[in-house]
Amino acid sequence: MAQKEYDVVIVGGGPAGSSTAMFLKRNGVDNVLLIDKATFPRDKICGDAFSGKSMGIARELGIIDDFKKVPNESVYGVLFSSPKGTQVEVPFPGCEGKIKTKPGFVVRRINGDNILFQRAKKQVDTLEDFTVTDLTWENDFVTGLKGKKKTGEEFSIKAKVIVGADGANSTIGQKAKIEPNPPEHQVIATRAYYKGVTGMSNNIELHFVDEIMPGYFWIFPLDNGWVNVGVGLLVSEKNKRKLNLKETQEKIIRENPLFKERFANAKIDEQGIKVWTLPVGSFHKKNHGNGWVLVGDAASLIDPFSGEGVGNAMTSGKFAAKYIAKALKENNVSKANFDDYDKELWNAIGSEIKTSYRLQRLGSIKFLLNMFIDKAVQKKEVKDIISGMLANEEAKKESTSTLSLLKVFLT
Ligand SMILES: Cc1cc2nc3c(=O)[nH]c(=O)nc-3n(C[C@H](O)[C@H](O)[C@H](O)COP(=O)(O)OP(=O)(O)OC[C@H]3O[C@@H](n4cnc5c(N)ncnc54)[C@H](O)[C@@H]3O)c2cc1C
Repeated sequence: MAQKEYDVVIVGGGPAGSSTAMFLKRNGVDNVLLIDKATFPRDKICGDAFSGKSMGIARELGIIDDFKKVPNESVYGVLFSSPKGTQVEVPFPGCEGKIKTKPGFVVRRINGDNILFQRAKKQVDTLEDFTVTDLTWENDFVTGLKGKKKTGEEFSIKAKVIVGADGANSTIGQKAKIEPNPPEHQVIATRAYYKGVTGMSNNIELHFVDEIMPGYFWIFPLDNGWVNVGVGLLVSEKNKRKLNLKETQEKIIRENPLFKERFANAKIDEQGIKVWTLPVGSFHKKNHGNGWVLVGDAASLIDPFSGEGVGNAMTSGKFAAKYIAKALKENNVSKANFDDYDKELWNAIGSEIKTSYRLQRLGSIKFLLNMFIDKAVQKKEVKDIISGMLANEEAKKESTSTLSLLKVFLT
């Protein structure tokens, strides 16, 4: 089948790919194709929390109101529990008083991602149900890709630049010979939807319970009485402890004294417990080459402490679009001409990821976590430090400075 030749073909219509498409259009690049192997709306295994960072980019793209039109739940803070069972509630910055100026949103990804994809679809060509299987090359430059429709029809598409926005197991990354993350830089997590869990509030809940340490068990409130529940920890730790994550989640719900009453009458939906991986940003992955660029999970940009990846996926789409537009204008899509994409992206997210990596390692030491949460119950000052960690990058940096951490343990 004869195909049109594109300036840019984006593989993957999730938050990274759809954002790249919309930002390319803003940068004056029109001849773009956005491909996905699924048909939208499609599900994505996730905690469904859209952070302030994601909503900031949605605002910049002028689509924030779309998120208020689909079923959603506003969240105002975090309920933490320590391995020994102490609990503390910490409001998000701006949500301390009666008037909540900066709530977070929990929106099922089947709805949230569909907003992004449908908006992108209005601006660029799209092709759904098409699984990309390989890249084509000429003189060490990517020149296009090959793939297959669900009907079995196979064809190639030519492009000056290919964007790999195809998630954690990126085919584009593999075909560009990028190594997968080592187990100590990859999280594995579950997700399941339940109805009938009691004791819910407008907090997201992160529980550092013994059964999953050094990871955590989460409960996030959703619309209409549903909740999103999961457990997650580093693949290296899962292997060390030989954990079966589905069984661990079921055991926490059935036996842990903090949850067994709350889940006593809860029902899981027909999808059951699903498992997926999170390539975290503590591993700075190669993300570009001659004629190709990686964004989002394909580029390993997930926050190593919170597991939040949508915000950085959208951020990477924004920066990638800027440098792709420049490269096309200069008629030079070489690796060297994409080096500034990597530089600007990591200047923007690098220090936050470094801080989160420090927090991830601190959180793996049980007695420190117990002490930290005990102190937060007793002292407003410590609560403020945690609130800062949940805030923007600068506040987070300050909150996890040696001085702040010393303050927690010495006060
Ligand atoms: C259990 C779990 C909980 C999480 N919780 C949160 C959370 O609460 N908040 C948060 O911000 N982040 C969370 N994350 C991380 C978040 O899900 C990812 O960071 C985010 O989805 C990255 O977006 P993306 O566009 O890069 O990739 P994806 O959303 O994975 O999109 C990739 C797209 O590429 C398509 N694709 C893949 N391969 C091909 C191919 N060969 N050909 C064509 N198309 C292809 C897929 O169909 C998909 O649509 C969680 C992750 C997990 C696993």
